Amino acid sequence: MSQEKPAILWLRQDLRLADNPALQAAANQPFFAVYIWDDQDPWAPGRASHWWLHKSLNALKQSLLERGVQLIFRRGNPLNILKNLIEETKAGAVYWNRCYEPYAINRDQEIKSYFKNEDISCQSFNGSLLAEPWKIQTKTKGPYQVFTPFWKALQNFTFPHPLPIPELQGWKFPVASESLEEWRLHPAWGQGLEQTWQPGEKGAWERLNRFLEEGVEAYAKKRDYPSENGTSHLSPCLHWGELSSTQIWHQVLLSHGIEALPFLRQLGWREFSYHLLFHFPELPFKPLRVSFEHFPWEVDADALKAWQIGKTGYPLVDAGMRELWHTGGIHNRVRMVVASFLVKHLLLPWQKGEEWFWDTLVDADLANNAVSWQWVAGCGVDAAPYFRIFNPSLQSQKFDFKGTYIKRWVPELQALDSPYIHSPWQASLEVLEMAGIKLGMTYPFPIVDHAFARKRALEALKTTSY
Ligand SMILES: Cc1cc2nc3c(=O)[nH]c(=O)nc-3n(C[C@H](O)[C@H](O)[C@H](O)COP(=O)(O)OP(=O)(O)OC[C@H]3O[C@@H](n4cnc5c(N)ncnc54)[C@H](O)[C@@H]3O)c2cc1C
Repeated sequence: MSQEKPAILWLRQDLRLADNPALQAAANQPFFAVYIWDDQDPWAPGRASHWWLHKSLNALKQSLLERGVQLIFRRGNPLNILKNLIEETKAGAVYWNRCYEPYAINRDQEIKSYFKNEDISCQSFNGSLLAEPWKIQTKTKGPYQVFTPFWKALQNFTFPHPLPIPELQGWKFPVASESLEEWRLHPAWGQGLEQTWQPGEKGAWERLNRFLEEGVEAYAKKRDYPSENGTSHLSPCLHWGELSSTQIWHQVLLSHGIEALPFLRQLGWREFSYHLLFHFPELPFKPLRVSFEHFPWEVDADALKAWQIGKTGYPLVDAGMRELWHTGGIHNRVRMVVASFLVKHLLLPWQKGEEWFWDTLVDADLANNAVSWQWVAGCGVDAAPYFRIFNPSLQSQKFDFKGTYIKRWVPELQALDSPYIHSPWQASLEVLEMAGIKLGMTYPFPIVDHAFARKRALEALKTTSY
């Protein structure tokens, strides 16, 4: 074996070569990379994320191989795996970019202190956020709980310029690896995902470049309309770290300057979610407003199922849930509508929606998902007030006036036009017949009446201190 000890680059949610501080550090000596499937993680990726991860790891493995670096795969307890790797290769250092999920923070701290005692160099870096969550503080040194002042504070930071891809020196001796194929990460319904996405650093850059050319300018105008291609679709790339937020921030500012502020603000929401998760680690399962802890949620497996498969009888809700199932993505405006429908119309706990999104979104992200669900449910900080209850038909009229988005995902309503496409139950039998629709047979009646649901939700709200 070579005299020089190798380093280990532990890849996690930073599946890229450029602007990767842990990779920069590892590149100062021969190194190899490892991806560990942590089988203890309580928020292990869901099925759609598995698909993304599989593809992204394969792409990264190839890019590293082209530069003479091996990426190996191991499954199990990360501390034990790193200990084994150090024993097998006599590695002298471990590098990684930080994750901010509560479980990962505790795990990583434990690993760091173990290796410190063993005299193994162990260093972590910020490869994911514009600013570390603990660095942004209110005047009283506490966490922010309202977005606007947080956003102001964030903009006072200077974000470092992205790092280039360094010269890499691969460790020459093969390290035993499990087979990624044998991890069997493909979900049964992967076809729609294949048609929609191209995971990996290359695909992420193509997406970003397309957005820079065609999307940033009209972002503020188009972002709320689901039939428009009006947003960046970069969320899974950001979650898996195929692009860093710093790269996106700088590229967007460079090409569009201050005009890009409405888009950059959304990156600010991502930072805010991470800030909140860091300071309130119970956020993925517990309402931040204590008064919601005993909210009288319903238990209704049939209603939950109807929501999941897009058969609620509310076209915009159904379109969104079917888009989600087919593509692993769902437009932000429609996410708000379907989430509000679950929580307020069906009175089902927000955690049920959070779990479904976790399993089916390719961009499932603990911080963004939990904060957004609590925001919609009205039980988070700086949340949408619970008593503001979206009318799904009006949302549909406002944001998908011609029903273009609905027709794409709910083909049985193809022949129905506005205004009935937003509320087919209000159409006459004649109109329905002409459109080839038989309510209750070809398309469901609404599973709940809007006026009834609104009243019930407001009654339930009285149990909180709103
Ligand atoms: C109920 C609900 C659940 C959600 N779950 C997730 C999730 O699991 N993962 C996720 O990344 N986003 C989640 N979001 C936020 C948002 O819907 C998505 O980030 C956005 O739709 C992704 O599309 P885009 O990349 O085209 O976004 P763009 O509009 O192009 O925004 C750029 C980036 O900013 C970030 N961003 C945008 N909106 C938000 C937001 N409201 N909160 C936090 N970050 C934001 C994302 O990283 C996004 O990629 C959720 C929203 C709701 C209402």
